[in-house]
Amino acid sequence: MKNVLVVISGPSGVGKGTIARIITEKNKNVALSISCTTRFPRDGEKDGREYFFVGRDDFEKGVSENGFLEYSEHFGNYYGTPKDFVLKRLKSNDVLLEIDVNGGLNVKKSFPEAVLIMVVPPSLEELKARLVGRHTESAKDIKLRMDRIEYELSKSSYYDYTVVNDDLHRAVEKIEEIILKEKNK
Ligand code: 5GP
Repeated sequence: MKNVLVVISGPSGVGKGTIARIITEKNKNVALSISCTTRFPRDGEKDGREYFFVGRDDFEKGVSENGFLEYSEHFGNYYGTPKDFVLKRLKSNDVLLEIDVNGGLNVKKSFPEAVLIMVVPPSLEELKARLVGRHTESAKDIKLRMDRIEYELSKSSYYDYTVVNDDLHRAVEKIEEIILKEKNK
């Protein structure tokens, strides 16, 4: 069986982070990639666990040295996938990237064999309730994120698979099945 590069995307608040964490905890062959970002850590986040938190200068240096598989800017901050980190891990593991839609499509350009999975909410109302409920964003940020949701969902037709997160465990199982199927292709 080959190792696969799997991209999980979906609107902010859809639960993709939780899904990615459960999959990597349950499946020791699947390594979660850690992105770099210039945004400040939220309460409870740790450098080198959720993200590598870096300054803008360091990030821009990484860009100029071609150190990212892809990167983009959201809400005024940079986010990028460290190239070395992913390529090294892919030699021994499946690698899971949890990144936005543009990032996923950019990864597909450089890695056509990457498997793109879009996680979608059962409804937009449900998603807004989740975003408000986690109390980590201001009202202005929530509005910005809601505006982005429609854009993200409009790109789902370019993704290889769409998984509805109406039930966390069912969504995890569906993604595990996709990974297994792709590994055996
Ligand atoms: P958050 O600030 O909520 O952690 O993430 C904001 C957005 O950045 C999310 O849509 C998340 O998927 C995206 N993101 C996280 N890491 C990366 C990355 O490495 N590259 C890109 N393009 N987007 C990322």
